[in-house]
Amino acid sequence: MAGIYLHVPFCNSRCIYCGFCSTVSRSLRQKYIPALKREIQERGDFFSSLYESDRTIKTLYIGGGTPSVLSPETLQEAVSAIRENFIFTDEIEFTVEVNPDDITEDYAASLRKMGVNRVSMGVQSFKDSHLKWMRRRHDSGTAIKAYGILRKAGFENISLDLIFGFPLMTVKDWEENLSRILELDPEHVSAYQMGIDPDTPLERMEKAGEFSLPSQEESEEMYRLLQKKLKEGGYIQYEVSNFCKPGCHSRHNSSYWNRIPYLGLGPGAHSFTGRHREWNTSDIATWCDLSTLPLREGETLSPEDVFNEILMLGLRTTAGVKLNTLRNSGPQSPVYISDILPKISSLESKGLLILDKDGTIKIPSEKFFISDGIIRELFVC
Ligand code: SF4
Repeated sequence: MAGIYLHVPFCNSRCIYCGFCSTVSRSLRQKYIPALKREIQERGDFFSSLYESDRTIKTLYIGGGTPSVLSPETLQEAVSAIRENFIFTDEIEFTVEVNPDDITEDYAASLRKMGVNRVSMGVQSFKDSHLKWMRRRHDSGTAIKAYGILRKAGFENISLDLIFGFPLMTVKDWEENLSRILELDPEHVSAYQMGIDPDTPLERMEKAGEFSLPSQEESEEMYRLLQKKLKEGGYIQYEVSNFCKPGCHSRHNSSYWNRIPYLGLGPGAHSFTGRHREWNTSDIATWCDLSTLPLREGETLSPEDVFNEILMLGLRTTAGVKLNTLRNSGPQSPVYISDILPKISSLESKGLLILDKDGTIKIPSEKFFISDGIIRELFVC
């Protein structure tokens, strides 16, 4: 059973590190819902060839951008349009990303009323100096208050996002941020190392020599602290950047890692059928323009792409990848498997990979920080 991702490409301000598809332009907001309705009409049959016309979805994830900059009425209109064309299972995981600044009691109640049962909130840091530097809209007090409001409104599944590995942050700051997380006790935590995306203020600042990111050693120390403290707090790490209380993993994101088909709606959104990947134009004005045909590009994955993708997505999870899954991934896979077996042995001998008795390969969690490099060594080409 599939999932839907809806991209809301609007923010009230831009964070210095942001490379996401989003705009602060307000004029496009009015065009968003009509354009979304058009796209839903056009994509209503997306799952039909995969699931014999079954339009049931088990996860809906509204991300951005900042979905919570939309009024509850506008968000409800988007959800209603999706509901008219797809069937939500009773156990649907329905997530909305929010900014702490937008959360009032009324807003939280509206989210509950529209069926949202999981909220993902971008906290990023509990230090106001960090938030100011990132040009986030909220401060630490607002984030803590918003969390309390969400809890009071009845949300029992809350995910908080944090960022580490940026110039102002010391290891001590990070430790304190993690302690605040443990005090709040959300069901889920995502923590990302700050990267420098192209065409962002951060990239320009770095080029101008205004700062440099902390050394990899320092960032690795922060990552190890993250793993240690969250484990002590009762969290399970299930992916490189994701931790949860037992049973509270993100079902939507897990579908991506398990390569389950999904439909992406909204500018820049990606869709996936198992073999074919498509992406909407990330030009928000073009996507909103009803006078042109929907602009979308796509590619059919080669057997090699599929093999590498299974490796890449699976090895970022603590569950790892079954060699049998790789073996059954396509006609060329026996050749690819014989290609990577010596590499697996070599990585295993260096303590960088584990091959379980049941034929599952995994990256040891203490090596997750360098997982990208390990995975790259296994890619077939
Ligand atoms: S709130 Fe999120 S999407 Fe918006 S500018 Fe900041 S990082 Fe980007």
